[in-house]
Amino acid sequence: MQDRTQDKKKLIAGNWKMNGGIEANDALVRAIVTGLRGASCLAAVCVPAPYLAQVQVLRQGSTLELGAQDVSAHAQGAYTGEVSARMLKDFGARYAIVGHSERRQYHGEGDALVADKAKAALAAGITPIVCVGETLTEREAGRTEEVVKRQLAAVIHTNGHCISEIAVAYEPVWAIGSGKTATPEMAQQVHAVLRAQLKAATAHSARVNILYGGSMNAGNAATLLAQPDIDGGLIGGASLNAADFLQIIVAASHAVA
Ligand code: PEP
Repeated sequence: MQDRTQDKKKLIAGNWKMNGGIEANDALVRAIVTGLRGASCLAAVCVPAPYLAQVQVLRQGSTLELGAQDVSAHAQGAYTGEVSARMLKDFGARYAIVGHSERRQYHGEGDALVADKAKAALAAGITPIVCVGETLTEREAGRTEEVVKRQLAAVIHTNGHCISEIAVAYEPVWAIGSGKTATPEMAQQVHAVLRAQLKAATAHSARVNILYGGSMNAGNAATLLAQPDIDGGLIGGASLNAADFLQIIVAASHAVA
């Protein structure tokens, strides 16, 4: 397997969550595509499934990549409401978020299911962006490391040597959509733990982008992205504003990889 470590770029992925509309998407993606020219990091938008087709057309000819916010663990069959990895691939998706804390919290998704979803994505040639992160209660109880390691261990266990093909997003649950960001030092500390865990699992760990997510914005992106083990960002709220999202992309393009 060829080692891509040398040319690894930071990745900025927008998570639109359940936001958007035909008109708003059109304006947002056109502005991102225009502003993205010359950027030297990877950039993607993870859109609600019904808008994949629209954004697939809008991004044509651009380096902007497309992603989904979830994927079924199953390949096909009687799973009403589910969307398979192959279906996402049909619409040009390169990424699929799996295990976002909102899915763990509101849809009861556990570590084993998240690991199976990552496996389904990988089997279809889609990079799963595996989200891990502790709640405030877990952080205050000093359990951050234990929680994120357990969440990532499940994905490593299920995916074996393919683990070097995933991306990871460390998203402290208390920082998502709250305006509270982990300090760069706090984030780096957890990223280093995740990096070490990946290193123990694969000789190609350096190719895995470990993103930070949780109220990353135009103002704080540069300092977060300057940390040695922060390889990009998963951006919620700020990805819905083209100017803010593009500023984060500029910060990632200038940060040392
Ligand atoms: C997210 O939902 O993945 C996220 C990081 O959200 P926000 O940037 O709004 O905190």
